[in-house]
Amino acid sequence: MALQVMSDKVSTRLVLHLDMDAFYAAVEQLDHPEYRGKPVVVGADPKAGRGRGVVSTASYEARKYGIHSAMPISQAYRRCPQAIFVFPRFERYTAISRQVMNILRDFSPQLAQISIDEAFIEITQTANFHGGAKSLAEKLKARIKNETGLTASVGVAPNMFIAKVASDLQKPDGLTICEAGREKAFLAPLPIKKLWGVGPKTEAHLQKMGFSTIGQLAQCSQKMLAERLGKWGAHLWELANGIDDRPVEDWGPRKSISQEHTYDQDIADPQIVEQTIWRIADGLSADMRQADLKGQVLTLKIRLEGFETFTRQRKLPEFTNDAATMRQLALEIFRKFDRQGKKVRLIGLGMSHLNNVGGEQLSLFQTEEQTRRDKVSNLLDTLRAKHGEEAATRASLLGNEPEGFTSF
Ligand SMILES: [Mg+2]
Repeated sequence: MALQVMSDKVSTRLVLHLDMDAFYAAVEQLDHPEYRGKPVVVGADPKAGRGRGVVSTASYEARKYGIHSAMPISQAYRRCPQAIFVFPRFERYTAISRQVMNILRDFSPQLAQISIDEAFIEITQTANFHGGAKSLAEKLKARIKNETGLTASVGVAPNMFIAKVASDLQKPDGLTICEAGREKAFLAPLPIKKLWGVGPKTEAHLQKMGFSTIGQLAQCSQKMLAERLGKWGAHLWELANGIDDRPVEDWGPRKSISQEHTYDQDIADPQIVEQTIWRIADGLSADMRQADLKGQVLTLKIRLEGFETFTRQRKLPEFTNDAATMRQLALEIFRKFDRQGKKVRLIGLGMSHLNNVGGEQLSLFQTEEQTRRDKVSNLLDTLRAKHGEEAATRASLLGNEPEGFTSF
């Protein structure tokens, strides 16, 4: 039959996404048999409910009390004071992570690790050696269980986006497969927050536009979404329709994110450059929050008259996307930099060593001060979205107030 021949020729991809279950907490339960079957919270010290900082990972038993990653540790303590609270042991987690990644490599040479406990492999070419995708996934899960003692959830789909969505659907110890041709039907009933890049703010925005499921978004016109949300709207529409053509190798966690400004005329006044740094830090922070990214290495780029270009890097003690933290460090670097009396042509700020915010790499010790700053930053985003870039400039850019936050 002609149709059969055609579908044989179409090379359908098979992508597998693996995500370890409640990783840090599961490792603690593995190493401490007395913790098994009990609520375990890996994260900051709860200090009997007065602790600052956040939950890194909660065991499934702890999740029954409503405890989840990124929740303030004090709140976790109030929800379940009898839980076992432990500090993370990153060295141990990293060692197991390496073991898991090596097992994955036995099933495909094309691997993209996206966090300590998550990776994609392209199994288009290798699935047949293992009796098909399902059997490959089962073997993979069994090997991880045997060799590490831990469970993983796996999703298999024709592309990375759907594979990642699939691995999350039947946690823990799940195996979910989306067959080729079923992409749209598979995604349609899911809430829009499952789409990559849709955080709480965008979710609320899309809901106001009348979208609550991926299927609803898939059915609207791509042009309309592009008009209302920009280029990113067009991309969202593609994801909603199950379209994601990126090869696994190209994934890579985004390596860096940056913004820069070139002056119309070279600038001698350091005050003006410092104001630009303020503005760039705000913009970069907004971009990072939009993409759910935090970074740990800040780069200041300075180009002087005559095109001499310098970069200066500093490592921060924690992952951040906080505008105030980035700005402070950037200003410090800038003030120490010896321009030898030369004018500034360009100034830029970048963050690298990036991590996704939603994963288990959240800063363990996010303080209330940071939470407050996040709120100010969110407010800025909202104002920008409503009234345009210029309206939402921190007051200190307009006057000379040292700390912008007090003006809100
Ligand atoms: Mg995980």
